[in-house]
Amino acid sequence: MFWPFLAVVALAGAVFLHYWWRGRYLAAEHRGRKQIEELQQAQQWAAAAIDARQQALFDSMAEGLLLLDQAGRIELANRSFTTMFGVTTDLRSRTLLEALRLHELAELVEVLGRQKQVLGHELRLQRPRDLWLQVNGAAIFDGENRRTGTILVFHDLTRIKQLERTRQELVANVSHELRTPLSLIKGYVETLLDHAKNDPELADQFLRTIDRNAERLRLLIEDLLTISELESGRLKLDLQPVSLKAVAQKVVADFRARAAAKQMELVDQVPGLEVLADAGRLEQVLCNLVDNAIKYGRPEGTVTLEARATGTDQVEVAVRDDGPGIPPEALERVFERFYRIDKGRSREHGGTGLGLSIVKHIVQTHGGRVWAKSEPGHGATFFFTLPQPPA
Ligand code: ADP
Repeated sequence: MFWPFLAVVALAGAVFLHYWWRGRYLAAEHRGRKQIEELQQAQQWAAAAIDARQQALFDSMAEGLLLLDQAGRIELANRSFTTMFGVTTDLRSRTLLEALRLHELAELVEVLGRQKQVLGHELRLQRPRDLWLQVNGAAIFDGENRRTGTILVFHDLTRIKQLERTRQELVANVSHELRTPLSLIKGYVETLLDHAKNDPELADQFLRTIDRNAERLRLLIEDLLTISELESGRLKLDLQPVSLKAVAQKVVADFRARAAAKQMELVDQVPGLEVLADAGRLEQVLCNLVDNAIKYGRPEGTVTLEARATGTDQVEVAVRDDGPGIPPEALERVFERFYRIDKGRSREHGGTGLGLSIVKHIVQTHGGRVWAKSEPGHGATFFFTLPQPPA
């Protein structure tokens, strides 16, 4: 009885041990699998975090960045690139031609297959907006010198190009403006030296023309120096509470004779208001506007100076005339350097084409705004705002 009982107990023990070990083994195996899964997931998260960090880094670059794989398909395009090219869809896995239809860029990538590096290639985009880009590109190679892709970096040159164009235009305009009075002066001096000096009447007439053109040159150079001072940011304003009424009265008194010569009336309706301004510069602004109103206004017409507080701690000043006015397309352009509606008319009055540009700079340096309104045939009004002194 004892042996069979012992055998049954041993068998039961063996079965129990088998299942106990198997349970532990399975639990351990399950734990192991879970750990591997967790590890893989952690690796994926880590990789994603690195990708996200890289992407954030690339997206923070001011330069556009484009990475192509060895088949020329886009692997990465950062935010600056998509903004420059106005792209809103996912570009990955597409070729440059499919994605952008830009043959010039596709050709550049082809060139990179032959010469490994392209520096300073200038690319002009006209859509979605007018942009000048400088493209630097390089082919990427692995350790065994096999080409694995291409990297292109795009630098926005638009601002530099605009400045370059503005500088060229300025040089061309200034040269032109200087040349006209200078050649007149030279021509009259030569004629005087030749024979006219012996004819007092003719000599007097020629000398007056020379004097007028020399004065034009002086004014032009003075205006150019003012513009250069204003644009360089070197202008220091002596801001003080200034009586607008007093400055307006002085300007009106100074221009009274000029207005009378054209039988024009100067009406001063500026009330007792104060502005926070540099008195000398404020006078210069008013002088330029009143001077223009007399020059381009109607003979026997009226020029009016007005001002009002706008309720936003600003004072709005207006200089109104009843001359031929300004066509709508020129209302903003008259503030550009050397822009004139009628060149001949401006020159005839000794205009330099810089007066309104100076006005705009001075007003903006004070933190104000300047604009013009006109109904052609019914005069023009120039407005500007200046801050009021703190209460
Ligand atoms: P300019 O020396 O030629 O007067 P401005 O910069 O003062 O230069 O003015 C630019 C142009 O704006 C002028 O040439 C003129 O064509 C136009 N303009 C300025 N003020 C008036 C005005 N009150 N009425 C009509 N046109 C004006």
